[in-house]
Amino acid sequence: MKEVNEQANAATINTRPWINPDRAQSLLRLLRERILVIDGAMGTMIQQHELDEAGYRGKRFAQGYDRLYAAAGHSHGDGCGCSRDQRGNNDLLTLTQPDIIGDIHAQYLAAGADLIETNTFNSTTVSLGDYGLEHLARELNETGARLARAACDAAEVQDPTRPRFVIGVLGPTSRTASLSPDVNRPGFRAISFDELRVAYREAADGLIDGGADVLMVETVFDTLNAKAALFAIEEVFDARGARLPVMISGTITDASGRTLSGQTAEAFWNSLRHSQPLAVGLNCALGAKDLRPHVDVLAQVADAYISTHPNAGLPNAFGGYDETPEDMAGMLREFAEAGLLNLVGGCCGTTPAHIAAIADAVRDQRPRVLPVLEEVA
Ligand SMILES: [Zn+2]
Ligand SMILES: [Zn+2]
Repeated sequence: MKEVNEQANAATINTRPWINPDRAQSLLRLLRERILVIDGAMGTMIQQHELDEAGYRGKRFAQGYDRLYAAAGHSHGDGCGCSRDQRGNNDLLTLTQPDIIGDIHAQYLAAGADLIETNTFNSTTVSLGDYGLEHLARELNETGARLARAACDAAEVQDPTRPRFVIGVLGPTSRTASLSPDVNRPGFRAISFDELRVAYREAADGLIDGGADVLMVETVFDTLNAKAALFAIEEVFDARGARLPVMISGTITDASGRTLSGQTAEAFWNSLRHSQPLAVGLNCALGAKDLRPHVDVLAQVADAYISTHPNAGLPNAFGGYDETPEDMAGMLREFAEAGLLNLVGGCCGTTPAHIAAIADAVRDQRPRVLPVLEEVA
């Protein structure tokens, strides 16, 4: 059945060779054998370090701007005006605190993650613009992938029988292409498809050069943003004449079970299935319990592997997350028993303890079998 599906794919867009055939083949083999474990939250782990402004800036950005770079015609100096607060710019830590980021990757690998996500959620020119650091997009993606790959390589040295994979993360950006941020101007857009496409292309190129094994368009709340990312990825693959496996993960943001751009899980899949991803799934916003019915729908309609990485429950009154590793692992075990899962991990509020518990809970469970869907004439 699987072969039929792979032939169907091969006959259409996915005819390019893999960028790294050994890694891609071993990932595909493992997906047929068992449920694979993705890591947990990066932000939650970074918070535990309680870094201050100076901690975020490190030496290179001590003044708030990049000492190694100034736009043409501009020289930084006292009061040059481009110094910005960097506290909260978690992606910048890839450059200023690489040991912290590398250690978080190592902790998730030790907890049992097969795949770890790069610290690049906001590393597009669009999101970096909020910090005045657009020029870092390429460097952050490449270095972010390198850090994650180094952590995977170290884990593989310890246990050569167990391959580990880097998921190069492309986040949703801080702007929506299909919705207006201004209720009084519903036709206004803060960003265009083309601007997003260019930004995602740069990020994807950086991730690939840094050694990402998979690209994941994640936390999708606006399907048009995701389409721009997937279009950019295709452009990058075209230019290289080779491809990586691609994952897509959407976010259900309201009680009626829709994304921010108004789609149910099924509509979301139907809008993006033409890109023939390796996996499609849902993450963030909801905990496992509330995500379950939507994962169920995806598992019925999608002829791709299913992933889910929920938050540790819904946020509490203080914006924190209360679900214990045991709570979350118990619920996700039920997902696995129902045959819904191929890849599972955690989003906001999850820690290595959550991932260890989830890995334990799904270890002996069978992965969902990839369905072959009938062609719609
Ligand atoms: Zn300046
Ligand atoms: Zn999240």
